[in-house]
Amino acid sequence: MTSHKPEWSDTLTRLLALAAKLEGEGQYNIAKLARAVAEALIRQAAFKIALPSEKNKLANEIERIIVELSRLDVDEDLLAVLKRAAATMAEGRLPLINETPHPYICRTCGHIVLNVPVEKCQTCGAWPTTFKQFLPVYWLDALEPFAALERLRQTPLDVAALLEGLSEKDLSQPPEDGGWAIRNIVSHLRDAQGVLSFRLNLLLEQENPSLESKAVFEWATMEQEHPPITQEILDTYTASRQATIAKLESIPLSDWWRTGRHEEFGTVTLRQQVSYFGSHEITHLPQIEGLRNQ
Ligand SMILES: [Zn+2]
Repeated sequence: MTSHKPEWSDTLTRLLALAAKLEGEGQYNIAKLARAVAEALIRQAAFKIALPSEKNKLANEIERIIVELSRLDVDEDLLAVLKRAAATMAEGRLPLINETPHPYICRTCGHIVLNVPVEKCQTCGAWPTTFKQFLPVYWLDALEPFAALERLRQTPLDVAALLEGLSEKDLSQPPEDGGWAIRNIVSHLRDAQGVLSFRLNLLLEQENPSLESKAVFEWATMEQEHPPITQEILDTYTASRQATIAKLESIPLSDWWRTGRHEEFGTVTLRQQVSYFGSHEITHLPQIEGLRNQ
C-alpha cells in the first residue's frame, strides 16, 4: 500500500468542499469540473496499485483496509457488512443482496445509510431522496432503452467482424496465461444472451419474479455445453439476440420498468437488465481483439 501524503488528501478534500459550495451557489458547470478532477486523481492513483486475483488474498486485502477504515471512524454497520462479504468471497460464494444491501451517502454531509433511506439525514437533516445510491456495477444504468437496443443489435456484428478469417485452431488457442480462448469468449456471450432471453420472458410473464444469480462465467469453458464449431456458437448467439430484439421492440415502453427481485443485485428493472447485458458484452471485445493479435 502507498502511504497517503497529507497534501494529497488535503487537496482532494478542499476540491470536493469547493465542488459542494459551487453547487450550492448554482455553479454546476464549475462543480462538475472539480468533481471530475477529484475522481480522476483517485482513479489514477488506484490504477498504479497491483492487487492479487485469488479470492482469499483479496479477502485479506479487505481485512487490512477495514482496520485502516475503522481508524477513520467509517460507519461501523458498513464495515461489518464489508467484513462478512469478504468472508463470503473467501468461501467461494458471491455475497447476495440480503447480505450486502446498497449503500446510500448523504450528498451534503457524507453520512452513510444501508438500504433505501426513509428518514432525513440524522447528521445534517438532508431529505432522504437526495442521498446518492451506489449500484453494484454501472452497467445497470449505462444504457437507456433506445441506446440499449442499438447496442444489442451492434455487438454480434462486431464479434462476427473480429472472428473473420480465423481458423478453428486460432479460435481454440488459449492465451499463454491459460485464460479463455476466443471460442470460450463467444460461448460466454452466447450463454449471457441465453440468460438475458430467459429473464426477459420471466419479467414479462410474471409480476416481480425472483431472478436467480447465475455463474455464467463458469459455463464458458464447459465444452460439452457448446457446439463444436465456433461459427455455430456465434450463429446461435446471433439468432437468440435477434429474437430478443424483436421481443423488446414489440412491448410497450412502460414494460421496460417492470421489476424483478435479483438474488445478487436486489430489485432490478427490465431496463436495467437489458442495459447490464448490453454493457457487459462490449467489455469482452478488447479481449477478443487481443487474442486475435497474439
Ligand atoms: Zn447529511
